[in-house]
Amino acid sequence: MSRPSNALVLFSGGQDSTTCLAWALTRFARVETIGFDYGQRHSVEMTCRRRIRDKIVGVLPQTKDRLGEDHVLDLSVLGEMSETALTRDREIELGRSGLPSTFVPGRNIVFFTFAAALAYRRQIFDLVGGMCETDYSGYPDCRDETIKSVAETLSLGMDERFHIHTPLMWLSKSESWSLAYELGGEALIELIVEETHTCYLGERGTRHVWGYGCGLCPACDLRAKGYNVYTSTL
Ligand code: ZN
Repeated sequence: MSRPSNALVLFSGGQDSTTCLAWALTRFARVETIGFDYGQRHSVEMTCRRRIRDKIVGVLPQTKDRLGEDHVLDLSVLGEMSETALTRDREIELGRSGLPSTFVPGRNIVFFTFAAALAYRRQIFDLVGGMCETDYSGYPDCRDETIKSVAETLSLGMDERFHIHTPLMWLSKSESWSLAYELGGEALIELIVEETHTCYLGERGTRHVWGYGCGLCPACDLRAKGYNVYTSTL
């Protein structure tokens, strides 16, 4: 018996996971989403997630019956750990490297483990995540090798063959914008600009051509540069 064509997308409401959601909707018969609640950016991200889910089907009308349930898991223990376990020396070091002080090492391993546990119960064995090796050298849990190893571990540990799809893994930020255009044209680009959230500071006051954000943190910087390269190639 062939497996149902279902996928579970790790969906934070950011640019990358929104592009992944669009990618999954064009490939799988049914797509569910999962989000993790673990810290101060929670309310901004949760609002963005809801709005994007409401609108994305309108942007991709050919996929209209495919978007399934949304799941939000409380992982506030991650937020607690990042607040209480951070030493002063390490905080300075993280500041220098441009990583937010809320950075949780190995976070994606935790996310995929919970996502797979939920997916298993729902007979879903295809997981989708927006990890990208090209631009995020600071995050070893975004590397292709890490993700492949996690898929192998989950398959062994749950005795089911899990596939983890990372459509952005080898794309630059500008190529991610191009992929969004291929998937959903100008309407999807507009949705990403208007509704997705990437800024580390949770800032949504200023609307730039590439979207909302402080414009200064590493996440905004990356997003802005990628968008500028993308538009210069149009
Ligand atoms: Zn920012």
